[in-house]
Amino acid sequence: MPGVLVVCELKDGKVKKTSREALALGRELAKAVGGDLMAVAGGSSAASAAGEAGAFGAKKLFVLTDPALDAYSTENVTTAVAAVVGQSSPAIVLIPGTSNGRDLAPRLAARLDVGVASDVDTLTWKDGKLLARRPIYSGKVVATVEIEGVPAMVTCRPNAFPASEGEAATAEVVEVAFTAPEAKAKLIETRVPDTEEITISEADIIVSGGRGLKEAANFSHIKDLASAIGGAVGASRATVDAGWIDHQHQVGQTGRVVSPNLYIAAGISGAIQHLAGMSSSKHIIAINKDADSPILKAADLAVVGDLFTILPALTAEVKKAKEHH
Ligand code: FAD
Repeated sequence: MPGVLVVCELKDGKVKKTSREALALGRELAKAVGGDLMAVAGGSSAASAAGEAGAFGAKKLFVLTDPALDAYSTENVTTAVAAVVGQSSPAIVLIPGTSNGRDLAPRLAARLDVGVASDVDTLTWKDGKLLARRPIYSGKVVATVEIEGVPAMVTCRPNAFPASEGEAATAEVVEVAFTAPEAKAKLIETRVPDTEEITISEADIIVSGGRGLKEAANFSHIKDLASAIGGAVGASRATVDAGWIDHQHQVGQTGRVVSPNLYIAAGISGAIQHLAGMSSSKHIIAINKDADSPILKAADLAVVGDLFTILPALTAEVKKAKEHH
């Protein structure tokens, strides 16, 4: 029976949020396809994901417990997932649209000689075909594409699908043998950014700053509000290029594509390349002193005013509201 296979990424033995979203989506698709939801995880702690994968409806969790899969490497993970696809013959493979997932998908698709749709925000199974909706031309247009080949492969846009659990169950763990291929690339070092910070791709709330902040030190206004409201810090490219903040915070065409519940943009003009990264946010609040700036047109709540007055006042209000709860 053809099913849906979800590639799960783990952190400290737990299934990452983007993978939980893919599992929840996979459960619905498996019903439509008429098959089982299956998952695959790699690395020493892979089997620890069985409980979570089961809770999301996976009947089987394929595990490759080789320590060579503890850290991501394109060659190893492609070989591992290709082996599981061979063993489980899914109709659909879902990959979380994280940096690693976006790296894996095209390589795996080439290995299996199938098509892949990337950055998908809606999926429908119709007449034995998978239809995937994805933004193109920097988000100016949305295209619905039909994916050729079996399995149909997709990378799922983070935050686009709810990570709702199914009925409580534990997935059956199926061990899969793995021999690491001869590597052309070697991982030398992993540098982990400040672990206190929430990453923008997974955040529910993002507070972003632009050139309107005037200088690096003023990012403190953005960080203060983000910390008070429990959000991540985002940035426009202008501020990243100016060296005010690290590239991992950049939202947009050449940064990250984000879909949080709430996106607050302060001192950002709303260039098309920035909008490409955040226009699918569920709610947008923009603060800009120029009433004609394009970001205000994209916003659900447009605040025309000086961010140096508004941000501290907003932070103080959020703190006050929290004290009363
Ligand atoms: P600006 O456009 O300078 O806007 C600053 C805004 O702050 C203005 O609207 C101004 O009215 C407002 N402001 C000033 N002072 C205040 C104040 N006191 N209070 C309130 N508001 C104030 N950009 C991205 O962001 N992400 C990308 O991924 C990206 N990729 C790109 C890729 C390519 C190929 C190219 C060509 C460009 C890309 N850009 C990207 C750059 C993009 O075109 C813009 O240049 C950039 O987004 C502008 O950043 P900004 O809005 O911070 O600055």
